[in-house]
Amino acid sequence: MTLDPRVKPDTIATHAGRHPAAHGGSVSPPVDRAATRIFTDLAEIEAAHAEAGVTGRLSAFLGSRGADQVAEAIAALEGPGAVATLTSSGMSALAITFLAFLGQGDHLLLPDTVFGPTRDMARDLLGRMGISFDLYHPLASEAEFRACLRPNTRMVLTESPGSNTFEVQDVPMIARVAHEAGALVAIDNSWATPLLFAPLAHGVDLSICAATKYLAGHSDLILGTIAGRRELMTQVMTTQRQMGDTPGADDAWLLARGLRTLPLRLRQHDASGRRIATALQARPEVRQVLHPALPDAAGHALWARDFTGATGLFGVVLDPLERPALEAFLGALRLFTLGYSWGGFESLILPVAADTGRQHLPMPDGTLLRLHVGLEDPDDLLADLDAAFAALPKA
Ligand SMILES: *Cc1c(COP(=O)(O)O)cnc(C)c1O
Repeated sequence: MTLDPRVKPDTIATHAGRHPAAHGGSVSPPVDRAATRIFTDLAEIEAAHAEAGVTGRLSAFLGSRGADQVAEAIAALEGPGAVATLTSSGMSALAITFLAFLGQGDHLLLPDTVFGPTRDMARDLLGRMGISFDLYHPLASEAEFRACLRPNTRMVLTESPGSNTFEVQDVPMIARVAHEAGALVAIDNSWATPLLFAPLAHGVDLSICAATKYLAGHSDLILGTIAGRRELMTQVMTTQRQMGDTPGADDAWLLARGLRTLPLRLRQHDASGRRIATALQARPEVRQVLHPALPDAAGHALWARDFTGATGLFGVVLDPLERPALEAFLGALRLFTLGYSWGGFESLILPVAADTGRQHLPMPDGTLLRLHVGLEDPDDLLADLDAAFAALPKA
């Protein structure tokens, strides 16, 4: 259905990418498992070829319509003029974005706080293809950032807030300076999703999410999204096809289901997350809470300026714990369980290892834990954390 462009994000999340008339009026779509699609005549085939020439997408011929419908919903959430594609993972969304625009001799800028596997991809996969990269300080001033650009810098990736330490970047400034230098600007927006930070409205060209996280929200699938203007997305979708990256029909269906409750889930993650972050700040064992909504967080003013909310993922730095103390702390937790790939309904905790790949921003001094605050009752989550602190050996 065509939505009035003035409707708000909750309404978009509820209605975008739905086509009940195409499948018997059912509110919930069927799982569209498809490889071959059948045409009625030659003219229809010719029209499909003409359309694929414009969009770079082949789904008129092959594959799940469900993936297209999710992409339509993502495009609506990303804002006016956006075109989106669904990819088979967050990592593939990043790889496709890099390979669509970078080639031998090009230079890429990554924030020092970039997701570790993205930095590894730049070093290994992109490095083998003759694409070089540098890390820039995520909190660089305009002059400092400008000095990082080289004549061959073709793309700047942002990730805001940054992985593990949650610094918020000045994305509009970075986009303006990068564009003056002729570089494209991409963002890994997995933390905020387009609901809480609208990349394209802040000057970003290519907006990427690990849909595995909040967009899906149920810890049961791995997918990614890329969105941008039509001219760029044709190149993105052509590259995606040439790389053979295809999201599965069942995962696309699950993602469509998850998206309908995204705004509601994020509000709860935010409310509970802030309550727990504030409670942690008051504990004597806690040195620092790394949460963009807290006034002393790095880049908090930028968060307040550019974001419409926070999510449930943040860091907490404890006085250094020896391994037995860390084991006692983690072992006492019942609701916060050890696990990667946050963004689902459940709470998670993870000790963050020292990131030796960073060049500008050292990891905080102390024991850094990453918390994902899920949809449990926050009173129960606070009691769980209290029990973990009580299990620490007394000094
Ligand atoms: C998880 C994650 C990814 C990778 O997503 P996958 O779907 O697991 O491949 C990329 N960026 C960030 C910031 C992530 O947290």
